[in-house]
Parts: sequence; structure tokens; C-alpha cells
Amino acid sequence: MSGRRPVRDGLLVGNLETGEAVGLAGARCRACGEATLGRNLLCPNCGSEDVEPLALSAKGKVWTYTVVRYPPPGDYKGADPFRPFALGLVELPDGLRVLAPLACAPEEVRIGMDVVFQPRVRPDGVVQFEYALASEGTAQ
Ligand SMILES: [Zn+2]
Repeated sequence: MSGRRPVRDGLLVGNLETGEAVGLAGARCRACGEATLGRNLLCPNCGSEDVEPLALSAKGKVWTYTVVRYPPPGDYKGADPFRPFALGLVELPDGLRVLAPLACAPEEVRIGMDVVFQPRVRPDGVVQFEYALASEGTAQ
């Protein structure tokens, strides 16, 4: 076992060791229908505890994005030397938006483009994620 672990507890589902069926964990409130990112026991919208697990869709669309041109302060664990990257707000069909890096050159990004979830394993074993351009006919 290589000791892979999610970047945040309760954020990912699937087998992190093999990469099989890795995706985002989510939750949906049975009372108000709010969908949230990660494992959640309490609805942040209405406060209900009647919340069920939801496997979030791997596919989404870029709702908006920005280009990060300087390394974030603190213990930045991205590319070294730093490379500017696109940070997208990706809208999922489940009814929520997820902030994540986009795995393409910033100049390729367009609002509304189709993207697909992609886990990324850091050298220290931490599994984080990004969204890659969805090619035509991508099955998933
Ligand atoms: Zn609720």
C-alpha cells in the first residue's frame, strides 16, 4: 500500500490506490434538495440532518474561470517552478459548482466548455483533482 490519501477527508470516493472509480463525494439534503461537495451530515442550506450521500457527476461545464499567475502564498504544492494555470468554477449537473484547477493551457479555456473530473496524485501521495477538457465522445 502506497498510503495515498485524499487532499481532504470525505472529499473523494473510489479506490485511491488504483485510481479506479475515483470521483467527488457529495451529499444531497432530502428536505430541501441542496447538493453539497464532500461527505456532509448537516445541510448547510436548511440545517436538516436528513442528508444522503451522492456520487457527483464526473462531467461538468466551465461556469467561469480565472488565471492564477503568481504562486499562492504559504505551502504551495503545485508545479515547481511555478506555471500560471487556469482555476475554474465547474458547474456539475447535480446542481453545484466546484472550484478546481483546469488541466489545460489557460488560453484554451472557454466559458461553457465541457470538462471531466481527473484525479491527480502528488509525489507525497496526496490525491487531489482537476478538470480536463472533455474530448468529443468521451465515455464516462
Ligand atoms: Zn437542506
